[in-house]
Amino acid sequence: MSADDWYECPFCKERERKVREEQYGKVPYEKFKVLLAEAAVEHPEYEGQSETIRCDYEQFLDENGNWRFKGGMECALCGREWDADVTIKPKVGRG
Ligand SMILES: [Zn+2]
Repeated sequence: MSADDWYECPFCKERERKVREEQYGKVPYEKFKVLLAEAAVEHPEYEGQSETIRCDYEQFLDENGNWRFKGGMECALCGREWDADVTIKPKVGRG
């Protein structure tokens, strides 16, 4: 089983927010517009999409009865990555 999810990147959003709050009124407006455009959080391949983190994962029950979860996420803008490889053993049952 596989799934793709998209998320907004908090690190990229913070970078955009900082430019908006720290540069506005402190640099010439034309320069501000350039800085803001450079910091804008938009997926480089999907125009207008602010979700830049793609998440792919799979989960399954392995042959030993363990629940396995494997997944990864990557931000297309800042390049941050997250990896998960989790094995969850079952609790003791009745037999
Ligand atoms: Zn990012």
